[in-house]
Amino acid sequence: MVTDKITQSAKVYPYKDMAEDAMLSDHCAVSVELFDNSHKVSTAVQWQTGSKEHQLLTAGVYQQAQAALATLPKDLQNWVVVMDVDETVLDNSAYQQHRESLGLGYSSESWSAWVASEKAGLVPGAKGFIEAVFEHGGQVALITNRDKALDAHTWNNLIAQHIPVTAENTCLVGRSAADKAAVAQPQFVNDKDLRRQQLRDGSIACSNSQNGAASNWQQPHHIVMQIGDNIQDFAGITQESADIKALLPKLGNSLFLLPNPMYGSWQ
Ligand SMILES: [Mg+2]
Repeated sequence: MVTDKITQSAKVYPYKDMAEDAMLSDHCAVSVELFDNSHKVSTAVQWQTGSKEHQLLTAGVYQQAQAALATLPKDLQNWVVVMDVDETVLDNSAYQQHRESLGLGYSSESWSAWVASEKAGLVPGAKGFIEAVFEHGGQVALITNRDKALDAHTWNNLIAQHIPVTAENTCLVGRSAADKAAVAQPQFVNDKDLRRQQLRDGSIACSNSQNGAASNWQQPHHIVMQIGDNIQDFAGITQESADIKALLPKLGNSLFLLPNPMYGSWQ
């Protein structure tokens, strides 16, 4: 029985393209996949996708961050705002919702396909904030734990969302094997710390820049703000080690935290 709770996708296997031993019959074979969409979506995903609270909180955090830009010293050079991507700039709640509606969770294959679709939306407030950073003469470093091999798709998704990123104003750098290996060293606490250090010392390898040593990213940068939805988007901090009392004075000044009840390092 087919209802509106079920999606179908049919695939035809042309006879001429099939190897003899793979033939299902002497006619074109057809397979049909049926997905049951009747699974209830979690309250976390409902909140992220449908609540006014989520919209107001995220836009409010970015409003606060934008106000903090105006307090930066006017003579500051080479300053950069470090931002996470997922659930910070790009909104992937549609992916989460789709997976849950099928009764499925995250998988690396489905996630890679989602990233490659370049269809993620925008977190409320993110675009206006990034534009304000550029207007104030700053740069943005997007340090994401999306796989580095997917960086071109992430870049295209940002462009599709009309964020005015260029190789000069924005450095995108996904996670590589070196980032995962770095956490074994005492000076790197979480898997974004190596990239933050490379940004500070001018050795970061931005995926969106082919300029090499001539790039304006190949000089030391001063990190003025860090923005993310995960406590590990902040330098030198892990979920386990995070000291709430120590973080609190920085929150709303140099650290900005967005809500994400769907997933995180707290799981
Ligand atoms: Mg994130």
